[in-house]
Amino acid sequence: MTPDLIAWRDEASAVWFAGLVVGALLIRHCDECGHHGRPDAVACTACESKSLRWVEAVGTARVVATVQTPEPSGSRTVQALVELAEGPWLFVPIVGTDTVPALGTALALTILRQPEGEPIPGFTVAV
Ligand SMILES: [Zn+2]
Repeated sequence: MTPDLIAWRDEASAVWFAGLVVGALLIRHCDECGHHGRPDAVACTACESKSLRWVEAVGTARVVATVQTPEPSGSRTVQALVELAEGPWLFVPIVGTDTVPALGTALALTILRQPEGEPIPGFTVAV
């Protein structure tokens, strides 16, 4: 089941959401040391440089931790803390299953387009 999340862009998130609109999950890349950071990073967590630029994540990840929420319909919403292939961790919906994936499960990016608000990143269990 897809979680009922509605996101809106602001000045700080505009580039990130513009990426999602065209199907790209953007993360931060440090020009000084090559480290990848979360989309909301303002400085590199490895070398503290503020010389960051946007790059497109490859779109694969692994499950680090999960949260499941029972729904009144009897299904459940699954969300997970995932480690992107580049290293940053994101908290995202897991879609296409109501089974909680095991820790370490390989995931693939899917862009969740909502009837309202901005698209958001979600992940499916990789096949
Ligand atoms: Zn750095």
